[in-house]
This record gives sequence, C-alpha cells and structure tokens, in this order.
Amino acid sequence: MPSIFCKIISREIPAHIVAENDDYLAFLDINPLVEGHCLVIPKTEVDYIYDLSDDVLAGLHLFAKKVALGLKKAIPCERIGMSVIGLEVPHAHVHLIPMNTMDDMNF
Ligand code: 5GP
Repeated sequence: MPSIFCKIISREIPAHIVAENDDYLAFLDINPLVEGHCLVIPKTEVDYIYDLSDDVLAGLHLFAKKVALGLKKAIPCERIGMSVIGLEVPHAHVHLIPMNTMDDMNF
C-alpha cells in the first residue's frame, strides 16, 4: 500500500509543497514543532532512510541543504536542525526544523 507521502507526491492528498525536483520533494509538516518545520523525502518509495542507496541518500542531503538555506532566509532562526526519526511514516524522510533553542526539537 502506498505511504501517505506517496499520496503527497502524486497529489492525491494536499500538502504545502516548498520545493520539488524530479527526484525529491519538500513540504511543511502537518503537525509542526515550530513554524517552517519541513519534511524532505525522496520520490523513491523506501521505508527507512538508511535503506536508500548511497546515491539517493546523498541526493536527499544535497536537496535538503538547498531547502534548509531557503528556509533560513524565510524563517529567522539560529540554525536549521535536521533530524531522522521515521517512527510514524514508513517512507524515508528527514525533518528540517528552524531552531533557536534545543526545546524547538522537542518531539
Ligand atoms: P516520523 O515518521 O519521522 O516519526 O514523523 C513523521 C512526520 O510526518 C510527523 O512529524 C507528522 O506530523 C508528519 N506527517 C504525518 N502525516 C502527514 C501528512 O499527511 N502530511 C504532512 N504534511 N505531514 C504528515
């Protein structure tokens, strides 16, 4: 069964998309920890991020870097934190979280 994030890729369900290319997608988390909390995913359907091929994983991080630099301009903050959790949605992703204190990444 396709994951909820596959349905976002195919536009079956809506999301606030912030960046996209042929292989990757970034969109706002539906339940954000802070304003601007984004999820960055590969379009390849793989459950867990560390099961991605090295190439796709490297591309995901390069795409996430571009998103993070844009996010840092849009949302004033000290740093863009990045986190890998993957306990809820079985589709590889990273969280990008605008942060001013460690409390901002309090999942
Ligand atoms: P994780 O799998 O890393 O534990 O968490 C998955 C994240 O996906 C959560 O922060 C949750 O709020 C977010 N999420 C779950 N379902 C949806 C959805 O349908 N749309 C969006 N935009 N985010 C979602």
